[in-house]
Amino acid sequence: MSNELSAQDLLPPEIGLTLLGFEKSEQGWLVRAEGRTRSECPSCRTQSTARHSRYWRQLQDLPVQGKRVALQLRLSRWRCRNRECEQAIFRERLGEVVAPWARRTSRVEEVLLLVGHRTGGRAAEFLLKRLAMAVSDDTILRRIKRRARAAMHGEQRLRVVGVDDWAWKKGQTYGTILVDLERRTVADLLPQRSADQLAEWLKQHPEVEVITRDRFGLYAGGARRGAPQARQVADRFHLLLNLREAVEKELARQRRRLALPPVEQEDQSVTKTVPVPASCSRANPEVQTHKRQLVAERWRAKKELFARVRALHLSGRSASSIVRATGVGRRRVDKWIRCTQLPTRNEMEPKPTSPRFFAAHLQRRWAEGCHEGPRLLTEIRALGYRGCYSSLAKFLARWRDHEPELKPKSRPPASVSLRQQAGVHPTVSGQISPLVAAALLSKPRPLLTGWQAAKVEALKKACPDFARMRSLVMSFRGILQSGKAATLARWMKKAVASGIYGMKRFVRKLNHDLAAVKNALRESWSNGPVEGHINRLKTLKRQMYGRAGFELLRARLLPMSRGSSLHRK
Ligand SMILES: [Zn+2]
Repeated sequence: MSNELSAQDLLPPEIGLTLLGFEKSEQGWLVRAEGRTRSECPSCRTQSTARHSRYWRQLQDLPVQGKRVALQLRLSRWRCRNRECEQAIFRERLGEVVAPWARRTSRVEEVLLLVGHRTGGRAAEFLLKRLAMAVSDDTILRRIKRRARAAMHGEQRLRVVGVDDWAWKKGQTYGTILVDLERRTVADLLPQRSADQLAEWLKQHPEVEVITRDRFGLYAGGARRGAPQARQVADRFHLLLNLREAVEKELARQRRRLALPPVEQEDQSVTKTVPVPASCSRANPEVQTHKRQLVAERWRAKKELFARVRALHLSGRSASSIVRATGVGRRRVDKWIRCTQLPTRNEMEPKPTSPRFFAAHLQRRWAEGCHEGPRLLTEIRALGYRGCYSSLAKFLARWRDHEPELKPKSRPPASVSLRQQAGVHPTVSGQISPLVAAALLSKPRPLLTGWQAAKVEALKKACPDFARMRSLVMSFRGILQSGKAATLARWMKKAVASGIYGMKRFVRKLNHDLAAVKNALRESWSNGPVEGHINRLKTLKRQMYGRAGFELLRARLLPMSRGSSLHRK
């Protein structure tokens, strides 16, 4: 082959077209070419040279020099000379270069699909127009959906699936996501969170051997019906969450005992307790310290004011007289006299520009031992994070100082962390909320900061069940990490013997799902990748401004099939 660019290079290679000529017009290039002098019957594969007639076919091809290219092909109809063949006349096929009825060459279709899959219909329409491959967004969306449907009857064996639910509308409608855990790609999306749908889907995939799922009971039922051959595995992360929820409920029942007696605290220690982590702040440490002091001061002043308002309220003063006496606004006074603790600021619902949006993933990775900022950044970028490194570093800084607790998905780290961020030394006294107490209870000793350890000790003394539950939670953690079924059985006996209602209830739930829980100790699969894809789903959903239909969302979430050569990595 020569190194020079020739006019023949304008044609798609390998289908034996002969260039007739080309011309440039307002719209772009018009390239004329002719088909072969013989062709193969698509039915019986016999070669034919008996031309029946000729016709013109026009196709859109890849642009040249930023200009649109229209291929005008002079093709033939042929007669099949094989007497046994049913097909008397056939059209010339262009192999893989063009699908039989397509209006674009496959290489254009591929670009269209790839751009559409990555950016969505409108954006793709805009980009492709600029790239001289104008296609309407409707067409793009139709192509993506069609590709997704074709991919489902695909080629790959699905052996290990992770199942979880995702929210269409939080608290209202939910769907189901299925992830191929071996390839870490989305296997499918179902429009509802239902056992029936999952069972139906699994029946179509009898090759599935392992199903990991959360504690959501209906998935267990669906999986049993749809794939009786598969081993079900309870997700370890969710098991820990369940245990923590059980602990929290139990502590809520014993709320009375969570009121710790007042202890004198030296407030001088405030700024010392929160060192500036060198790794995550490029700013001047002095400035940082100053800022923290400032925030701490503000917080202390606010706390004093709050205490005054509370005291006046408890002494029987009316709200309006408190307003007059303290100068605090009426709305704030109304709010404060209703709570026993100074409320921390409400954080806004996180967006993909905030690391908090990916808290579930980050928490999980942190718990797995990945504490490297740049690496976590790459990971959440892949999931759709649009913020900068420094906000991630800031987000991680509080975990570096304190500790990442495994928090329920629905609760972003809010109440405790703001204080910690502010560098305030919380006193080891006062009423502790069940949520905070449960977080402290579930935190391993080496990860407790000084004041947290002090609080844990105080809680152990004030509430005997706190101590017992803490020891149970810690051994359960250990069992999940490296346990055997026998150890689990011993643990369950011990938990029942503790006589604590919440623990007994948790064991009863474990018993309902014992096979899957035991599998969780044996199998290394986890629902981590599922969590990641749910984050990606949320990002996509937002990108489509809530206008996305289910089918489109699903099509964009499914990976491009392996057939696409452009997509190969
Ligand atoms: Zn034939």
